[in-house]
Amino acid sequence: MSHLKQTHYAPFTETAAIELAISLNFFTEHAVLSCKEIGDGNLNLVFHIVDERDRKGLIIKQALPYAKVVGESWPLTLKRAKIEADALKTFGQIAPHYVPKVYFTDDVLAVTVMEDLSHLAIARTGFINGELYPHISNHLGEYLAKTIFFTSDYGLGPTAKKELVQKFINPELCKITEDLIFTNPYFDADTNEFEDGLLADVNALWQDEELKFQVNLLKRSFLTEAEVLLHGDLHTGSVFASNSETKVIDPEFAFYGPAGFDIGQVFANLLFQVIANPTNREPFIRHIEIVWEVFRDEFTHLWSTENKEVLVKTDKFLNYTLAKFFEDSLGFAGCELIRRTIGLAHVADLNSIEDVHTRLAAKRKTLDLGKILIKQRKELINCAVFISKVKEVIKNEKND
Ligand code: ADP
Ligand code: MG
Repeated sequence: MSHLKQTHYAPFTETAAIELAISLNFFTEHAVLSCKEIGDGNLNLVFHIVDERDRKGLIIKQALPYAKVVGESWPLTLKRAKIEADALKTFGQIAPHYVPKVYFTDDVLAVTVMEDLSHLAIARTGFINGELYPHISNHLGEYLAKTIFFTSDYGLGPTAKKELVQKFINPELCKITEDLIFTNPYFDADTNEFEDGLLADVNALWQDEELKFQVNLLKRSFLTEAEVLLHGDLHTGSVFASNSETKVIDPEFAFYGPAGFDIGQVFANLLFQVIANPTNREPFIRHIEIVWEVFRDEFTHLWSTENKEVLVKTDKFLNYTLAKFFEDSLGFAGCELIRRTIGLAHVADLNSIEDVHTRLAAKRKTLDLGKILIKQRKELINCAVFISKVKEVIKNEKND
């Protein structure tokens, strides 16, 4: 697609979005185009352009120079649009089935034009409405194995890897994660939001020195371990799904970090359903197991067939690497469980529980499980031990 490069940034109106779509020749000459801004996210504009005749659609996502959720008082770099576009392209090359196609990008306009996925639903919303998406765990396991292996030193080799590290330096968005996931939930910070009924639990958490020490270790890992190119925000609101397809969107937080961070966010966001959705507890536990099993098997296969590092091709080092990823992912999952319960950004899985006692009981479980995953991650040495711990916390009467 061709398009004249823009020289200055301005937020799009719906008309401007249509003009861009036309200039890209995406639609035929006789198309009858309509456009709606559908962004339900916190940060960006998302325009959905449709040809009324055949419903063929296109998505134009544009970054705003501030966080939409907070307003103009929270400025945010437009460069994140380039990070997101570059990450969609990189992940799209590695795992094309699981990433929307990118048709056009413009760094000055902070725009990404991409495949319309409106035939799918946001996984979190689908789950809350009772969907199980039977293949989602299989797909996410494969997506994680491929993106993690092929952006690591082992899949890329040291030179290409460092070029990517440089391309994905993302300080402003990392700062949001550092504050909102690793720092603010652990003291009385202004950004925290929690129900009055949790005050005693939150106070206990703030006084838990061992917990804060372990969170500092996880934060240090996030700050310093450039293992793989992370999506960086891989919750179920960043996944589009149906009963046959899975697509991962919204990688504006992408940067080089510890592999367990993405895996842990997937675990935690499935755990919200395990805890909030008792009728479907077993299928969601199974989803977690499958994510790990598929990840482990696919990563193992890639490790032995595609590895660029000769010396690491031993079972001992592979097992060490998988064990490290698993331990890290439990710790990061714990951080996600806690911050989504008492931090700035909550999840609808919990907040949509209408009955206050049931909701508070569920939130106490996410806090308890979060603390256990962070503090006991070294002892939870495999998926079976992890899952039996999850079941133990869920059964705990004190939280009902
Ligand atoms: P933000 O970065 O602001 O969170 P997202 O990328 O999550 O933005 O997009 C916000 C919403 O826009 C999504 O929840 C989804 O409803 C819609 N959306 C985003 N990308 C697409 C797409 N490729 N196809 C269809 N809808 C999309
Ligand atoms: Mg989003």
